[in-house]
Amino acid sequence: METEWGCELQNLWDSACEQLRKEVGEYDFRNWISKAKLASIDGATAVFEVPTQFTGEWILQTYGDRILESIRNLDSSVHRINYIVSAKPEDMNDHNNVKNENSADAESSLHRFSLNSRFTFDQFVVGKSNEVAYQAARRVAEDAHVNFSPLFFYGGVGLGKTHLMNAVGWSLRQDNPDAKIIYLSAEQFMYLFVRALRTKNTLEFKEMFRSVEVLMVDDIQFIAGKDSTQEEFFYTFNALASESKRIVLSADRSPGKIEGLEARVRSRLQSGLVIELHPADYELRLGILQQKAAYLKETHPQLRFEKGVLEFLAHRIISNVRILEGALNRLVAAQSFIATDISMEYALHVLADLLRESDRKAQVDDIIRCVAQHYHLNTSDLLGARRSQDIVRPRQVAIYLAKHLTTRSLPVIGRAFSRDHTTVLHSIRRIEKLLVSDDELADDIDILRRRITEIA
Ligand code: ADP
Ligand code: MG
Repeated sequence: METEWGCELQNLWDSACEQLRKEVGEYDFRNWISKAKLASIDGATAVFEVPTQFTGEWILQTYGDRILESIRNLDSSVHRINYIVSAKPEDMNDHNNVKNENSADAESSLHRFSLNSRFTFDQFVVGKSNEVAYQAARRVAEDAHVNFSPLFFYGGVGLGKTHLMNAVGWSLRQDNPDAKIIYLSAEQFMYLFVRALRTKNTLEFKEMFRSVEVLMVDDIQFIAGKDSTQEEFFYTFNALASESKRIVLSADRSPGKIEGLEARVRSRLQSGLVIELHPADYELRLGILQQKAAYLKETHPQLRFEKGVLEFLAHRIISNVRILEGALNRLVAAQSFIATDISMEYALHVLADLLRESDRKAQVDDIIRCVAQHYHLNTSDLLGARRSQDIVRPRQVAIYLAKHLTTRSLPVIGRAFSRDHTTVLHSIRRIEKLLVSDDELADDIDILRRRITEIA
């Protein structure tokens, strides 16, 4: 009975592993997941046996969701996963047939990490709003001696920060499969650190992070205000920076605007190359949709859109790329129910709730009000005829934001500002041009954008 059950578990785990190996790639699989053995299914919890606590934490943190999903596909009664540390770690290696793994190899395996295979440079569509970030990411991936550190990406959700960091990882790995690279979220960093403290494994933790060639930490706004984690992060950061190791970080806002960040950490972050990712413009949104559609076609050969559908989505869904992508995925899933190409009506029908959501966006009136307030003007100044510089610039900013935060056409925006559409176009171009070099203006627009979208 015992053994039969054991056998069943083994079969289940083998099938799950087959799937996982495909998902995470051979490297990650061999270095991490293969170290775990499914020991039992205890009620709704699948319990793994792992050689060390650290391995267990790492596996849970980086692959937990995927492992759970792959097991649930085979046994839907499982809702959680957990691990136990096996009594004899050496045996585990034998079990899993890891060839000649001496301790140095084991150590280096710690530097493997989980990357999302969709997030490569090839799959990243470049446009005006992300070009600088893209170029910088490429530089970091290609040049071991970049003269900036860290590379710091910031911007709102769904603009491609995580994608770019993963792409750096893939590219490095392609050039050198043994490069010691770590990519993880600040949340994972903190979690591992706290666990290491609690289990007195801080040495292992420190060594692991300080021996890498490239460290990438995503969403670092998360460690702001978490004192001990911040401190550890700072030490790691300094240790790596002093050896000119490459560091890439991301956050949802610029270092100067992250609250609860120690002054020294902040200035360290600011001393690198700080790049903002801007929301995608129409052209880029369409480019991304076309690229994703082509990608999806590989697995869904029947996928076809009637003319104008992608353009329509690119026009209507302006918030961020993640939502744009979600819309596309929903259409693809829904298409299996119809025999024809996806038409505009069908898209409208399937995405009704999402499109309604997108409609609840900024009104030109709100924009005018916010911009006037920000620059200490009256709305009548913005809408009036005066042409002094201290009014013209805010007016251009308001027009620029009206173009970017609403779906109103240029003539409609023009009417709201009592101007013709060539003036509107000129204003938008002017601001776009200034944004390239004028940080203060970029900050103003950033603040306004947030304020306006909060109202909407
Ligand atoms: P962030 O980390 O900035 O919140 P992500 O990198 O997670 O955003 O991007 C959200 C989604 O949008 C991902 O699926 C990503 O692949 C996609 N995406 C974002 N920007 C681009 C781009 N320029 N080209 C292709 N896909 C993109
Ligand atoms: Mg992200």
